[in-house]
Amino acid sequence: MSAAELRLPPVLPEAPASAEALRAAVPGARVTVVGGARSGLSVARLLARHGAHVFLTDHGAAEAGVADALARDGVESEFGGHTARALDCDWVVLSPGVPTTSPLVQSALQQKRPVYAEIEVASWFCPGPIVAVTGSNGKTTTTSLIAHVCATDGRAHVVAGNIGTAFSDFVDDLDEDTVVVLEVSSFQLDHIVTFRPHVAVLLNITPDHLDRYDHDLSRYAAAKFRLFANSQPGDWLVYNQDDPLVREHVQHLSAERGLVPVAFSVTDEPAPGAFVRDGHLVLDLPAIGTPPGASPPMIRSEDFMPTSDLALRGRHNLYNSLASAIVARAVEIRSDVVRESLTSFEGVPHRLETVRTVGGVAFVNDSKATNVNAVWYALESFPSTDGPSVVLIAGGRDKGNDYEPLQRLVAEKVKGIVAIGEGAEAVEQDLGPHTARVARADSMQEAIQYAQLMAEAGDTVLLSPACASFDMFENYEDRGDTFKRLVHAL
Ligand code: ADP
Repeated sequence: MSAAELRLPPVLPEAPASAEALRAAVPGARVTVVGGARSGLSVARLLARHGAHVFLTDHGAAEAGVADALARDGVESEFGGHTARALDCDWVVLSPGVPTTSPLVQSALQQKRPVYAEIEVASWFCPGPIVAVTGSNGKTTTTSLIAHVCATDGRAHVVAGNIGTAFSDFVDDLDEDTVVVLEVSSFQLDHIVTFRPHVAVLLNITPDHLDRYDHDLSRYAAAKFRLFANSQPGDWLVYNQDDPLVREHVQHLSAERGLVPVAFSVTDEPAPGAFVRDGHLVLDLPAIGTPPGASPPMIRSEDFMPTSDLALRGRHNLYNSLASAIVARAVEIRSDVVRESLTSFEGVPHRLETVRTVGGVAFVNDSKATNVNAVWYALESFPSTDGPSVVLIAGGRDKGNDYEPLQRLVAEKVKGIVAIGEGAEAVEQDLGPHTARVARADSMQEAIQYAQLMAEAGDTVLLSPACASFDMFENYEDRGDTFKRLVHAL
């Protein structure tokens, strides 16, 4: 599939062209917010504070006291279903968890009512620069790493979006020097209109969440590409040049609009860009305070730092580190601070997190690896020089995984597999023939016991499930915490 064939969702014709115009129309507007989770509640309050008449609707039951608290903040609400009142409005705002496919959203679109994402609305009120990070994998890691670089520099910043706190919570308290580091999901990007990050980072596009895009990779990719929909000369388009889908789209878009994108790569040496040569990070970027494409010419740091000094292991984290180094330049953070931050970052829980070593066997929690691609990078990060040394615990709720891309790495690096959860059979069938030993476990405790039996001193037991957790656990955090608790009890 070529980027040119991708269909971008149409921008609604009724939408005024600028964020300023949209913001000016908020006082007195009749707005429905769909979804009463964190971001929905937050954007409802934001709009009410700015004079809109806000109605919040949620098909689920309300937590105790929520409706009363909203009423005190001037927001009307309904829970447990959507009534006709929900579409009696000028426009609609979606909480990030609400898919475009939901019947209420479909009705709003059919009635030609504008539908905006929460980040779109919040951005109308944001005075400072926005750094937005999206991709199929690595969003939280990269967002956290960028935040760590800002923190090390002492730069005023907030971290928001998918990662935890809603963007709408902060915007009223920001000044124009505060950097907003936003983790953005493709669902949010489905409904942006004027959202224009000063720095936009696209890490990669691999199949995930396809269930919400009619199992159509082009529709999912098109949503991710909307991150750049409003980019203008002077903005930073930071992209993974090694991802063919991303590269083709960004290069096409940049040529069309006269933009100078900034690439990162571990296989090529892009300029402007960040890459790896002879075990060192090389940055070839505009000088601090200079936008991409401007003169004076760029500054090339041949030996920015050795990759061995990076705190995060694995090729995927090389990408995340390169992307973060580019962002640091875009927000004008000095190189010595960036070096220090990339060295000192402690990582994010549940992403290749080393828990403990027991009897010479390291236990690593990668519970957040909920798709095949993340497991690929996890396995790739282990050496195979002395033969297979990983015992892999995998399985859970399978979203229709194709395990074939893992087979070579499993043969090379995995000495045994413990399959868990609903997807255990598929894991056994597709990966079992490529490793020496396979076991099936009914609980995490049993999985760890089998894994311990298969592992010898010097090996690693890796929980990297490739699947969602909901068959056995509350969520991936619960799965990872359970693993950690049991490993600490060994
Ligand atoms: P996201 O927020 O996009 O889900 P995370 O940073 O939480 O990404 O990481 C999710 C999983 O993907 C983890 O298993 C992690 O080790 C792996 N991962 C992190 N960065 C990347 C990357 N750049 N490419 C592929 N996989 C990655």
